[in-house]
Amino acid sequence: MLIELRDVWKVYRMDGVEVQALRGVDLRVEAGEFVAIMGPSGSGKSTCMNVLGLLDRPTSGEYRFEGRDTTALSEVEAARLRNRRIGFVFQSFNLLPRATALENVELPLVYAGVRDRQRALAALRSVGLEHRARHLPSQLSGGEQQRVAIARALVMQPAVVLADEPTGNLDSRASAEVMQLFQRLNREGVTVILVTHEAEVAAFARRIVQFRDGRIVADRPNPPRVPEGSLR
Ligand code: ADP
Repeated sequence: MLIELRDVWKVYRMDGVEVQALRGVDLRVEAGEFVAIMGPSGSGKSTCMNVLGLLDRPTSGEYRFEGRDTTALSEVEAARLRNRRIGFVFQSFNLLPRATALENVELPLVYAGVRDRQRALAALRSVGLEHRARHLPSQLSGGEQQRVAIARALVMQPAVVLADEPTGNLDSRASAEVMQLFQRLNREGVTVILVTHEAEVAAFARRIVQFRDGRIVADRPNPPRVPEGSLR
């Protein structure tokens, strides 16, 4: 099992007021899955993604990543695991503005102490952007910037890619392109978990998990649509 949350609670305390962002979440995700997390604003989706990405720790409950209990990890160990095993994609791309596409993709390698430009180029190639390697983010369209961010998320060959509203800043055409890319990467074996509030985006996933008030209220497979033309 790649990911296993057991009765995970996350409680924030602000000015003496308690907010229960997660209220007993159980979630298991296997390698190779493509999961969309949906739910209204404030239902705990981002909190759950932060826990999954080892950016935040549960107040109580258990999180096992690749079979390993993450509550015992030190900050340094968690950072190392994040760098090597988890790829992140954000709504706002989060690319360094003065670094080229290639340099942005190389960053996780640099953090890991690996100098391997060819590997970064291969990741750019896998998202169809080798020809934009020397461009700055400002010289790329939104869809291209997000594809660079996806290449950056993939360059360490992580166990899972976590994407929080990856199409939130894209027009519908670029959104569809980015989702088709995730779909292809998933078919090639990449595990993807993404948050979205758009049904058209979630439709690309193979499983849809619904949050409400800090709980999972639905979890169902999402069979692939029958491609047009294959109908008899
Ligand atoms: P979603 O991503 O579904 O919109 P969130 O996980 O961001 O939901 O938030 C769930 C609840 O937790 C909300 O009520 C939100 O206000 C609260 N919350 C999230 N992060 C914090 C924080 N750092 N401090 C206090 N409350 C928070």
